Amino acid sequence: MKKKEFKSESKRLLDLMINSIYTNKDIFLRELISNASDAIDKLYYKSLTDDSVKINKESLEININYDKELRTITISDNGCGMTESELENNLGTIAKSGSLAFKQMDDVKDKDIDIIGQFGVGFYSAFMVADEITVISKSMEDEKANKWNSKGLDGYTLENCEKSSIGTDIIIHVKEDTEDDNYSDYLTEYKLKELIKKYSDYIRYPIKMEVSHSHKKEDSDEYETIKEIETINSMVPIWKKNKGDVSDEEYEHYYTDTYYDYEKPLKVISTSVEGVVSYKGLLFVPSHAPFDFYTKEYEKGLSLYSNGVLIMEKCAELLPDYFSFIKGVVDTEDVSLNISREMLQKTKSVNLIAKNIENKIIKEFMTMLESDRENYIKMFKVFGNNIKFGIYNNYGVDKEKLQDLIMFTSSKTKELITLKEYVDNMSEEQNDIYYASGESFEKIDTLPQVEQVKDKDYEILYLTDYVDEFTLNALVEYEGKKFKNVSAADLDLDENKDEINKINEENKNMFTFMKDIIGISEVRFTKKLKTHPVCLTSKGNISVEMEKVINAMPGDETINAEVVLEINENHPIANKIKDLYENDKEMLEKYSKVLYSEARLIEGLNIDNPTEISNLICEMISK
Ligand code: ADP
Repeated sequence: MKKKEFKSESKRLLDLMINSIYTNKDIFLRELISNASDAIDKLYYKSLTDDSVKINKESLEININYDKELRTITISDNGCGMTESELENNLGTIAKSGSLAFKQMDDVKDKDIDIIGQFGVGFYSAFMVADEITVISKSMEDEKANKWNSKGLDGYTLENCEKSSIGTDIIIHVKEDTEDDNYSDYLTEYKLKELIKKYSDYIRYPIKMEVSHSHKKEDSDEYETIKEIETINSMVPIWKKNKGDVSDEEYEHYYTDTYYDYEKPLKVISTSVEGVVSYKGLLFVPSHAPFDFYTKEYEKGLSLYSNGVLIMEKCAELLPDYFSFIKGVVDTEDVSLNISREMLQKTKSVNLIAKNIENKIIKEFMTMLESDRENYIKMFKVFGNNIKFGIYNNYGVDKEKLQDLIMFTSSKTKELITLKEYVDNMSEEQNDIYYASGESFEKIDTLPQVEQVKDKDYEILYLTDYVDEFTLNALVEYEGKKFKNVSAADLDLDENKDEINKINEENKNMFTFMKDIIGISEVRFTKKLKTHPVCLTSKGNISVEMEKVINAMPGDETINAEVVLEINENHPIANKIKDLYENDKEMLEKYSKVLYSEARLIEGLNIDNPTEISNLICEMISK
């Protein structure tokens, strides 16, 4: 007999389990049944793909037994079983989902102990209700059977033993009752049945248990108790049930259990399609980003089932990147069980299903936008950037599908609106869609360039996310209306441009002098600024905001917007610089630098030489 220690991370989880900080101890049975079902899946799948493995499909089942006197509950399955080393590796360390729960726990620690109870913590959760666990298992790959036993933190023992058939028996010894917890409850038929129904109803294999019924004896008024083995679960996977037969709560339960989320989903999409391809799908929109969503480890995809048998946990081909946050299941008879990862992309039925699913999601989102706007906005606030990213990704091939799903904040209502809503609100004289970029609404509102657009009573879309401007650039236009940045150098809502063009022409030499000093594309007078002395605009496709974003990204790439310094022709500063150009060029150099720095600060940009500028300002105001 080998005696072993648990790995340290496992010990920590185990400790939490034994000391039962979780309020929802009931979940232990669901966890053990789910492991049993996975083990049967593995064996069944093997039998379908490997001719040497023969099984009787009808005999696959999970059995639950309990013994009040011995205080034991036994969960038996005739699945794949575990070899000696598998017992050691799988039960001696926290498995994948266990460590996943662990990471999430660190995020939510202290916030709410109760939510932890909803995680899938796997096998170890049995230690919430048990003070000793014995696992007897015989693998399909080994002649010998093995027995694993643990009383908790001290470690576990492993030894050879006898077991006639392939599969696993998990025997848990239920803790003694305490003042707070009546563990004996778990040793009743009523409680076990209730837990199976509640948490494991959709398990595909029969979960059998001996139950007692009272029968009236024939020809007598007396009753007798008859014990019978019964299948407790309905065995229909939740996605195969009719929408009407499943309560919201059941869907939510399924979601939180399956995806280890502690919050219920924002939306459940159930779909059943029959035609060129037939499938059933059950999709969930999470209400917050999964904890690893922004890491390399996050894998998108839907679970792919072939007529009830899981063939792939995360089939990435079923979801476009811009919907990578969606979770769910697709079950179809049109994909062969033997399909390999490499073949998926080339498989017509998979592509068709993916197309269908994508359309379904878009349709559901559009409906949500109309009839459940509040939740749509919640979704959009969490995952909107993903969709915006989808618009400019791949050279914009998907932009038309997605353009009606994106929203921006309106300068008029300060609420999120769609592009369609913007265009519908446009007055007849307005030809373009105006937007302004900046860190916050407040900062955008103070931009000098915004004033002229607001004066016309045109609505402005506030772009505050780094992807926003790239998205609109990719769209180019919406319903024939072009997107116009209020900070574009060519944006001048004043119809009479001849006058200002003439003045600029007259002062051409002065402006050349100034732009060379500052080192930008252009300096000129403008009439579009009402009260402000200066503003910064840009020519071409790269705005000053985009320059900021790109240059802040990791990597060596830097990019420069073609910057234009515009000076208010109606402001006293205009005459001042003209005067300096004639009489004091040295001072004009200083003025140019200060004016440019002012314009940069208004835009929220850094200035390269703050000490120099500060000294210049002091010099000027001391005069
Ligand atoms: P998870 O099921 O999330 O991977 P668990 O801690 O519940 O984590 O289980 C660890 C591993 O032990 C499983 O991944 C599986 O390989 C193995 N296992 C658990 N129960 C059984 C069982 N009844 N039959 C075969 N293997 C099992």
